[in-house]
Amino acid sequence: MRVLIAGAGIGGLATALSLHAAGITDVTICESVPELRPLGVGINLLPHAVRELTELGLGEELAKLGVPTSRLSYFNRFGQEIWSEPRGIGAGYRWPQYSIHRGELQMLLRDTVDRVLPGSIRLGSAVQSSTPAAVGGEEVVVRTQDGAESVFRADVVVGADGIHSTLRTLRYPDQGDPVWNGLMLWRGTAWVEPYLDGRTMIMAGDGQQKFVAYPLTGASTDADHRGLVRLNFIAERRVPDEGPGENSWTRTADPAEVAREFRDWGFGWLDVPQVIASATELLRYPMVDRDPVAQWTFGCQTLLGDAAHPMYPIGSNGASQAIIDSRTLAYELATAPTVGDALSRYESARLPLTAALTLSNRQLGPERVMQLAFERAPGGFAHIHDVVSQDELESIATQYKRAAGFAPELLNERASLSVN
Ligand SMILES: Cc1cc2nc3c(=O)[nH]c(=O)nc-3n(C[C@H](O)[C@H](O)[C@H](O)COP(=O)(O)OP(=O)(O)OC[C@H]3O[C@@H](n4cnc5c(N)ncnc54)[C@H](O)[C@@H]3O)c2cc1C
Repeated sequence: MRVLIAGAGIGGLATALSLHAAGITDVTICESVPELRPLGVGINLLPHAVRELTELGLGEELAKLGVPTSRLSYFNRFGQEIWSEPRGIGAGYRWPQYSIHRGELQMLLRDTVDRVLPGSIRLGSAVQSSTPAAVGGEEVVVRTQDGAESVFRADVVVGADGIHSTLRTLRYPDQGDPVWNGLMLWRGTAWVEPYLDGRTMIMAGDGQQKFVAYPLTGASTDADHRGLVRLNFIAERRVPDEGPGENSWTRTADPAEVAREFRDWGFGWLDVPQVIASATELLRYPMVDRDPVAQWTFGCQTLLGDAAHPMYPIGSNGASQAIIDSRTLAYELATAPTVGDALSRYESARLPLTAALTLSNRQLGPERVMQLAFERAPGGFAHIHDVVSQDELESIATQYKRAAGFAPELLNERASLSVN
């Protein structure tokens, strides 16, 4: 079976590795950029994605690259705690949750693909179209940097080409631009003193303004940053009058300007404006997604990751869901009687769940606890249970984990997606 994947992002590379592990080795990945560089900042890999990467043999490498997230704690903008829960192994999962640099994860996946499927990644090769071939399978037109076009034949085509997916746009030409919710995100990293236990992911604020942070390293032993951790952060603010602008991962912003918007956010254990002001890089990106679609699969081509279900970066699900897509697709292609059956089973397993998650994220997903606390006590509270009950807090956290497929009891007991 020949598989062509459009896009060597997290989803496309994980798909190549998953196919290889499932015994499908005739794989080509066409990637539009001429060089893969470790772009982006931090992401969180949830235990269900870590399970898949571990079963692909990457557990030890992940442990070297990532920080095992110990807790997720929500605060209001005054630093008062709303909810806190253990994460990863401490929460009863068989697999950890990792805070990890997106670019470093992508490089790990790329190096592994280069090792197990040498020569399979074609850089500077943008997929232009894919149409059914007269003799079965698909004919894929790929354009290289110099403008030359070549045609590839494949039995299966996977559109893992991100939120601006060409293959999705060809099927949904009227979908328009990604949908913006009026929030702007400034993502950066900064070297700071460790806070709390040094491995906690925090979210503070409400629907108007929010700050998220998690360390990507332990305390450094380098002379330049001795004792400091590299903190990933997202500063978020509602800016409806500005418009979303271009959503590209290379737009930068001035840290001092963004820090001013958070000038009153000192929590004692974390000085938010100081963190932002000391950012070594700061990327500006609007909070966008797309409406869920009813169909990903058309003949022998399908969609995966952000091309299939771009969602708000709420609940740490973007990369994690792409990885689970990739393992599910490979499992079905290796075990279903026909390609048609495999793609249909893949879509049935993944489309409804990710569509529900996209919509849930529009309602803030697990971050709803912060909005509830804000609505009921905008000026702060003496104790959170005076304004939001323990039952409400627990039920929001539990419902989201179930919806996203990472409730501990479900994940720990679910059968493996490895093909024996
Ligand atoms: C450069 C970059 C930086 C990012 N940084 C962050 C971050 O800091 N935090 C975060 O939460 N998320 C980030 N993301 C998004 C995050 O990686 C995804 O939400 C998630 O990992 C799902 O991955 P994906 O593989 O579906 O999409 P992506 O990771 O977006 O990968 C899509 C890939 O397809 C390629 N491509 C696009 N069009 C074509 C085409 N026509 N033919 C061939 N290839 C094509 C793109 O160059 C890209 O490499 C970033 C994405 C990119 C591309």
